[in-house]
Amino acid sequence: MLYNKICFPKIFNNIAVVEAKRRKIVSLSVGYDLYLFLLLFILFVYVFATVTITNLRKVYFLFHFFMMLWPLCQFAVEVTRDSQLQLFYVNLSFLSLSLLGGGWLLLTMFLTGNTDGLGKKRLFLMFIPALTAATGVIINPFNLFVYPLQGDYINRAYGPWFWVVIAILLGYFFASLYFLIRALNSSKTLLTIKKQVKLTLWGIFVLTTFALSDLLLNVVLSKWLPIIPGLTSLGIFISALFFVIVIKRYNVFDLVSIAHEDVINTIPYGILVLDENESIIEVNKALRFFVDLKLGEHFDMEKFLGSVRVDGNSRGFLNHYNHKENTSAQIEIIIERDIAHHFILQVSPIVDSYLMQIGRTITFQDISQERYLVNEVNQQNKILQERNQSLDSIRNELSVANQKLKEMALTDSLTNCYNRRYLTQLLPHEVITNIQYRTPFSLILFDIDFFKAINDRYGHVVGDQVLYSTAQTVKHAIRSTDILTRYGGEEFMIYLPHTKRQLATQLAERVRFSVESNRILVEHEVEPVSITISMGIISIEDFDHEQEPDDLEGYLNQLFAAVDKALYQAKQNGRNRVECADLT
Ligand code: GH3
Ligand code: MG
Ligand code: MG
Repeated sequence: MLYNKICFPKIFNNIAVVEAKRRKIVSLSVGYDLYLFLLLFILFVYVFATVTITNLRKVYFLFHFFMMLWPLCQFAVEVTRDSQLQLFYVNLSFLSLSLLGGGWLLLTMFLTGNTDGLGKKRLFLMFIPALTAATGVIINPFNLFVYPLQGDYINRAYGPWFWVVIAILLGYFFASLYFLIRALNSSKTLLTIKKQVKLTLWGIFVLTTFALSDLLLNVVLSKWLPIIPGLTSLGIFISALFFVIVIKRYNVFDLVSIAHEDVINTIPYGILVLDENESIIEVNKALRFFVDLKLGEHFDMEKFLGSVRVDGNSRGFLNHYNHKENTSAQIEIIIERDIAHHFILQVSPIVDSYLMQIGRTITFQDISQERYLVNEVNQQNKILQERNQSLDSIRNELSVANQKLKEMALTDSLTNCYNRRYLTQLLPHEVITNIQYRTPFSLILFDIDFFKAINDRYGHVVGDQVLYSTAQTVKHAIRSTDILTRYGGEEFMIYLPHTKRQLATQLAERVRFSVESNRILVEHEVEPVSITISMGIISIEDFDHEQEPDDLEGYLNQLFAAVDKALYQAKQNGRNRVECADLT
């Protein structure tokens, strides 16, 4: 095992010459100050842990604190004569160096944005090697870390634990290097971050070079080379300078920049920022999730729109885009990623104080949810429309069926003319109106002569045919305004509106003659069948005596009785004739 000796020049020897007794008092008072220092340090850590500053700031200040401890302790070792205190300072300086390694790694992780998921547990695990190294340094078991030469620690030799500490520091160094180089090579790292990382790398490089030189010159080659003091301290100082430059130049601690970065990366909109040459200078996390865009790449809007589905006038949008109009424009696009995602893509110009366009901001607002809801509502509307249509058609069918039922209810199925129910519905209203407006009207009641004989001779089927044929003949003989109804059996009634007795008699004669002349061809019979009818007429035309009846039903019965009487008269007077009745 190698034991190396460090011999620092004794430049402070003259200052620190004291008697042994006095030394004891000094060391006691130093101890007292030390306790105060420790209390102050605890307060410092407490304030740090609880004060509302960014974690990055906290890490940096602790890191800087440990950086300061090294040169201070190195100085303290030199000016102290008490070997125990010397050991304490040596321990403290190496304790700070051990923790510095973990601090380096943590700081680089913060600078490169690799702290996602870094909880307390992981943080503790990360610091385990540093704490292990520090514990070994403090305990210094069996002088494994350091032991005095010539009775004091100004001239000291290092044991194997020293090399463990160095190895752990190198481990942290390589881990930091890994994060820094990864950030430099990543296309997702912002350009400003890359510049920060480069400067930080320089800082690490300088510190490591100085520390390794110190190790090489003052430990490994100390037997052959003169001692060069303060190499590591100088390295620490220069690397701290690099850090200060990084912090100042890139506003690393600027809350607004940090908040800006945070907002951009947590906002649910996709954000793309282009410079005046259409190069990508910022893509936020939300957009990177959907689109593979790299910083520094040229963004071709036409190509991009070609790679997605566009809902709208892409030509008009591209025209606006290519002419670099100083107004915003938007278009809806659909990106297929497992499911279709709808976005409103909005382009807004970034202008300088002279209103010159120096770049553009393109935002992607995910409106899939809204689209989904609109589609859902449209779908529901369509279903409702279809249901309405089918309901409409059912209603139409029902109304047609109703109409048919109504007609069927008021139509005689055998003769196809109105039935008695229709007549009893129609007449009361007609009669009242006619009397009110003094409008003459007539009723004809006719009955087929000797119809029983037809049935008896030819059978009921032929009887039905005769009934049908007679009804058709009468229909043709009367006017379109006259209403023929089957009154019952082979009796029919005709309502003749606006018809006085004279005209009614003429019409009745015409009907009677038509029926008489009608030849009905019957199956299995050589000779056609012909029949005659007897007719009774009642006409209401003399309104001097007519008054609006109090009892309408009774008045109608009177009318029916009178016309029936006239028909009876026709039968009595020899049939196939017309008789008129009067109201008594
Ligand atoms: P009249 O000259 O006195 O009227 O002699 P008629 O034989 O016609 O006697 P009436 O009017 O009393 O007889 C009616 C007959 O008409 C009785 C019935 O069998 C027949 N009849 C009634 N309705 C129908 C029907 O729908 N079809 C057939 N085939 N016969 C019917
Ligand atoms: Mg009859
Ligand atoms: Mg009859």
